Amino acid sequence: MKKIELHLHLDGSLNISYAEKILGTDVSSQMIATGCHNLSEYLEKFNLPIQLLQEKKKITEFSYLLGKDLEKDGVIYAEVRFCPLLHVEKISADEVISAVLEGFQKISTVKVNLILCMMRNFPQEKNKMIIDLVEKHLGQGVCAIDLAGDEANYHTSSFAPLFEEIRKKKIPFTIHAGEADSFSSVDAAISFGALRIGHGIRSIESSSTIQKLIDYGITLEVCPTSNLDTKVVSNILDYPIKKLMNLGVLITINTDNRTVSNTSLEQEYQLLRENFGFEEKDFLQFNLNAIDAAFLSSSEKEELKRQLLK
Ligand SMILES: [Zn+2]
Repeated sequence: MKKIELHLHLDGSLNISYAEKILGTDVSSQMIATGCHNLSEYLEKFNLPIQLLQEKKKITEFSYLLGKDLEKDGVIYAEVRFCPLLHVEKISADEVISAVLEGFQKISTVKVNLILCMMRNFPQEKNKMIIDLVEKHLGQGVCAIDLAGDEANYHTSSFAPLFEEIRKKKIPFTIHAGEADSFSSVDAAISFGALRIGHGIRSIESSSTIQKLIDYGITLEVCPTSNLDTKVVSNILDYPIKKLMNLGVLITINTDNRTVSNTSLEQEYQLLRENFGFEEKDFLQFNLNAIDAAFLSSSEKEELKRQLLK
């Protein structure tokens, strides 16, 4: 089945065999999140990947290998996200972005656009640098900006000034919200004008938040296994995906982190088939939702729909 993926992190999706080849040792316990208790612990699994992504050649190679993994998984379009300022120990942020694009451009069967992430723990000036980078590269392989990181300790509402600037500059954006923090984080993202929300599943805690998602046509980038890893939900049967969908919320399915959560889109679909009885028509709808919400022009969306339905 052909697939679209809107929410996956480059550093959380590194090819583990290549990482082990570089380091000459087993790194699975450092890169896979089995046994985590919360989002903060889950985020520790990014320390090694970030160290591995500091040189142009390795960044390009890991991006190329992620492109191969996406191809194997049936993905025809992906929006891959990362924070360029976490990879500038040896090269510039512009060089990081071009190294990532160079890797993905080697795969002709998967179209990839990049989303650059601001980080919740960064000082405002550093996040402003990310806004400048997105503005500079927008339309040249970069399609949008995001806010990522420790949601429980850095509340979404405190980022209002940054999103005001982003809106003024007409930069497309998505925001991680309603994952480690409650529906109020989703409300804050909606108040900034977000039309896409990363995770957002804790919207289920508030009927007024759900109503806003429906009224404004906001799309959720849902990542089931990742939410199990971070203990946002303790049991897949409690996962509110079907409830949200039946209420009329637009849902897309994503991996978040293919390596840290040790998954693929095919595995996510299987998990949802087994536990919620989703069928092929549902997955087709999730993929059509993803195309509608993608940071693409309407002609690119039409072309992608043709490809998906072929
Ligand atoms: Zn994420």
